[in-house]
This record gives sequence, structure tokens and C-alpha cells, in this order.
Amino acid sequence: MTDITKDQVLAQLAKVRGPDLTSNIVALGLVSEIVIRDGTVTFALSIDPARAREMEALRQAAEKAVSQLSGVKQVMVALTAEAPSGTRPAAPPQPPAAGARTVNPPPFSPRPGAPARTGGATAGAPGQRPARQGGAVPGISHIIAVASGKGGVGKSTMAVNLALALKANGLRVGLLDADIYGPSMPRLLGITGKPRSAGGRTLLPMEGHGLKVMSMGFLVEEETPMVWRGPMVMSALTQMLREVAWGELDILVVDMPPGTGDAQLTMAQQVPLAGAVIVSTPQDLALIDARKGLNMFRKVDVPVLGLIENMSYFICPKCGERSEIFGHGGAREEAHRLGVPFLGEVPLDMAVRERSDAGQPIVVSAPESVHAQIFGQIAREVWSQITEGRASQGRKAPRIIIE
Ligand code: ADP
Repeated sequence: MTDITKDQVLAQLAKVRGPDLTSNIVALGLVSEIVIRDGTVTFALSIDPARAREMEALRQAAEKAVSQLSGVKQVMVALTAEAPSGTRPAAPPQPPAAGARTVNPPPFSPRPGAPARTGGATAGAPGQRPARQGGAVPGISHIIAVASGKGGVGKSTMAVNLALALKANGLRVGLLDADIYGPSMPRLLGITGKPRSAGGRTLLPMEGHGLKVMSMGFLVEEETPMVWRGPMVMSALTQMLREVAWGELDILVVDMPPGTGDAQLTMAQQVPLAGAVIVSTPQDLALIDARKGLNMFRKVDVPVLGLIENMSYFICPKCGERSEIFGHGGAREEAHRLGVPFLGEVPLDMAVRERSDAGQPIVVSAPESVHAQIFGQIAREVWSQITEGRASQGRKAPRIIIE
């Protein structure tokens, strides 16, 4: 098969006239970073959202121009909102905008010529296999998602404690809060302030309890209503993933938005995931939400590393009695029935909530606690699955069409 290059794609796109009908869309700086994988070419066009309807013709023209290149099997073009004026550097290619409304527009822009990571043992991480090709993020050996079928099951709490438990096992860990609808990592990790730009082109991640962290919560005020459209969600994620100076990481934990809709599916598809961890509560399992999560990852060919049952049982802080308030034990059986590993059960405990709210996750603030041990066990299981080959075999990019 002929290898397609970005220059070839840009040359085709330079034939497409922009909305001003005089210059082309490349010269106008409307084309985002171009990703080419297995004959599929993906990029976004930055447009004025008020003209989204008219711009559909432009999108189609760009798609058509690129599909004429030999070796191209599929072209995926998303329309994204135009960055506020003044924030856009003149030279193409341009990044898509970070979101519908940002209070302080983040200085995101593409890292010029950043090579894809091609291999990857990194020091300090035992038993690593080479990172996968294509779409890999330079410097990051493995990326996993923490997902749930619905909100409120403790997904973010599990993600942060899992990340910290991986770190406690000696790994270099990052945490990407992709829960753009309700970013909670700044609060859960007690991080305040805004990320600094690294030389004006990329952002430096924030740090909390030894984790490198990026979240939309750092870039927009908590009360800011954010209106996200499908392609913008994708752009925001791509930027938080690829335009942040993560440095060398053994693992990046992505806290996904809750649910299994199009946005989540697109995210699961866009990120080169080594696997996914599904969080559920006992009643959520009964309500099949967790199963929807499993199916979503299967659909996009991401291995499910296992299921965590959160709020599994309750231990009375006064008398120590254990109560199975939601009916306990079903998750292990259910996981078995669904053919996914059962990673562990985390009790419902006031301390978990209080410490979370105080920015002191239980794994770091009470490392001797039962909870910390449970997360330690979950982290070891997740890591061994990733490194022992059960999870991170190369995944083909599935076909999706972005409308
Ligand atoms: P999600 O990300 O699924 O929406 P969160 O992680 O934000 O859920 O958790 C929702 C609420 O439940 C938070 O207040 C959190 O502190 C609390 N919570 C999560 N897990 C536990 C637990 N095991 N014990 C007690 N409270 C918990």
C-alpha cells in the first residue's frame, strides 16, 4: 500500500477554497493537525460555528479532495469552532478550538513535527512491551480509560485512586480528565491555578500528589456553562492528549465522561487505548449500564481490563459491621459471565468521600487503609494485564464516520 504523507494531504487541501473564496483552506489556517492511520486520514476544519450549516459544503469538498489521493481508504473531517480571534498563529496547520466557551483560551497549538513514538521501553517500568505504532503519543507508553455506563458511580474517584496506586507501584503516571462535562480532577487532587505554556506552543501539565494532570477544569471556570458539540469534544481531547508536554510516562489514566453516547465512543476511538476499566455499582450492574460500557469498548476493539465494583458494601464506621446495602457479590459473577476480569470491590465509606472532597485521595492520605490496599491490588492487576500482553496487542483503528 502507498504510504500517504501529510504533505500530500496538505497539497490536496490547498486546492480547496476557503469561505472567503479567494485563498485556500490551508493558507487560511483552517486545517488542524492531520492524522493518518491505516489509510484513514483524519483532521478538523476550524470554522465559525454560526456558519456551521454553510460550512458543510466546505467539509465535503475537503473530504473529496483528500479521498482522491491514492492509498486513502477513508477520510474523516470534523468541523470545529473557530478559536477566538487573536489566539490563532498565522501559519498552518492549525489546531481545532478547545471548546465552545473558554474563559482564558488555552495556548494550545500543534507541536511542530512531533514524531510518533515508535518503541518504547522506558526505564523503571518492569516488563514493558514496545508501545504500539500509529496514533501513539510520544513519551507515553500506555494509555488506559476509566469509564462508566452512567454518572455518579464513583468513576473519577476510582480513576484518581487507581492512578495514585499505579504511582505507588513505582510508575510514572499521568491523569487526563476527559470528563469535560464535569471535570473534577482539580478538586479531587486539590490543584489550583492554571497550566503554564511550555514555550507558547504546548501546555505544561499540572502536578498533584506526584501525578501529572490535565483537565478542562484548569482552563475554564467551574461555573462556566460549556456547550460542546461532537467534533469539539474530540478536539478538546486531542489537544489535552497531544498538545500537553506530558514528558515520559509509563501510563496515562484517562477519566472518561460518563455514559456510552457518541462523544464517549468517539473518544474511545480517538485515543490509542491499551485497555479500559469499567466502574459500576451493584445496582448499576443490574441496570445494565455497565454492560453498555463494555459493549462500547468492544465495538471499538479496546480490550476491557476489567470491572471495579464501587460502593460494593458498607462498613459501619462505629461498629465495623459490614452491610450489603445494594446486594453484594453480583459484580464478580456478572464479570465472569461477561467474560471480563473482576478487578475488585471498593466499599462505600465516608472517608473516601471526605478525603476526595478535601483533595486528599485515600490512597495517598491513608496508604495503610483497606481501600489503599484494594487500589494497590487493582493497580497491579491492571498493570500486569497491560504489560503481559493480555491487553495491549495492536488495535486496528475501527471505522467511524463523524457527522
Ligand atoms: P463519577 O465520576 O462517576 O460521577 P465521582 O467519582 O465524582 O463519580 O463520585 C460521586 C460521589 O460519590 C463523590 O462525592 C465521591 O466522593 C463519592 N464516592 C465515590 N466512591 C465512593 C466510595 N467508595 N465511598 C464513599 N463515597 C464515594
